Amino acid sequence: AFDTVFDHYDVIDHRTKAAYASSFTGNPDYRKEVWDWVTQGSSLNLPHSVIATPGGTGAVSTSMVTFLDAGQTVILPDIAWGSYSLMAAQDNLKTVKYQMFEGDHFNLASVKNAIEEVHKTQDRIVLVVNSPCHNPTGYSLSDEEWKELTDLLNEAGKTGPVILVNDIAYIDYSYNLAHSRAYMDCFNQFSDQVMGVICFSCSKTLTSYGLRCGAAVIVAKQESDVRDAEIVFEKNARATWSNIPNAAMKNFVWVVTEKRDTFLKEKQKYIDLMKERSSVFLKEAEECGLETYPYKEGFFVTIKVEDNDRAERIHAELMKNHIYTVLVNKGIRVACCSLPVKKAHGLAARMKKIADSVH
Ligand code: PLP
Repeated sequence: AFDTVFDHYDVIDHRTKAAYASSFTGNPDYRKEVWDWVTQGSSLNLPHSVIATPGGTGAVSTSMVTFLDAGQTVILPDIAWGSYSLMAAQDNLKTVKYQMFEGDHFNLASVKNAIEEVHKTQDRIVLVVNSPCHNPTGYSLSDEEWKELTDLLNEAGKTGPVILVNDIAYIDYSYNLAHSRAYMDCFNQFSDQVMGVICFSCSKTLTSYGLRCGAAVIVAKQESDVRDAEIVFEKNARATWSNIPNAAMKNFVWVVTEKRDTFLKEKQKYIDLMKERSSVFLKEAEECGLETYPYKEGFFVTIKVEDNDRAERIHAELMKNHIYTVLVNKGIRVACCSLPVKKAHGLAARMKKIADSVH
């Protein structure tokens, strides 16, 4: 819990904490600061609207519910944060998965295939891309991959509307923060048929998971399309969570304005720490031949185990040896975000030995 976040939160007036937000779409100053924060260092300049949501979860789930009807299909990565599938199931949506990787790159061809498959039964495409700092692999699409993806979405837009849900939950832990939003310049090239919803989370940025606060940032070429989406997002907010904690929004504004430099400095310490932990783990993994998915930055590294039954057995065996990981599709996730450097040393070799003993 960052001091630069919570020292101020603690002294916020009780009446501010008790008060309703000033709008179901969020407080105006929060909405403005989120836009500036999310797009800093990029030249994204499309018409836009920011809707305050309960964390990134609220932003992703309300996107699915807004743009798709029950029985329709949302496109998800095959290796992903498990909640995406849960959200789809809760909304009675079907899912089609694209493969995240082709070798050590983002699998654009698989995204294309997924879009083509969905186009057989519906005109509208909703595609979830979790980058930068993908959970669970730590992958970030390169600027080139974003350009190619944008072209692909514009092409798909010729068949029907396309909504890109870009989950940026971990963006503020990118290793090159100054460049972390540069890829958003691509969104300026969206055709009239493509809309973006950038899902932002204060849970990670401010280390405040329990103080439910985040945002859905809607961008599109036509102001009227943004406005139409904004209206539905506002109604969904009113009908589900009502409003976002007033003091959480006020605190975000205060941190990124009054406390910006000290906050960034405090956060950087933890980015550096995570880089140290992941570097130790990855270096040793390479040395001992423990295969991982391509990691670039962020909280997690995932060991590649394509056979899910075997992954389950390895996961159980790791636990018997007091190595606590998370089982994901086609792999086993190691949380570098909670792994002390001294425990990172030797971990890869221990995991490799255990994995090798499981058939
Ligand atoms: N997206 C991803 C990939 C996540 O891992 C998480 C949280 O773990 C979230 C979004 C949303 O978290 P929150 O709703 O707390 O902002």
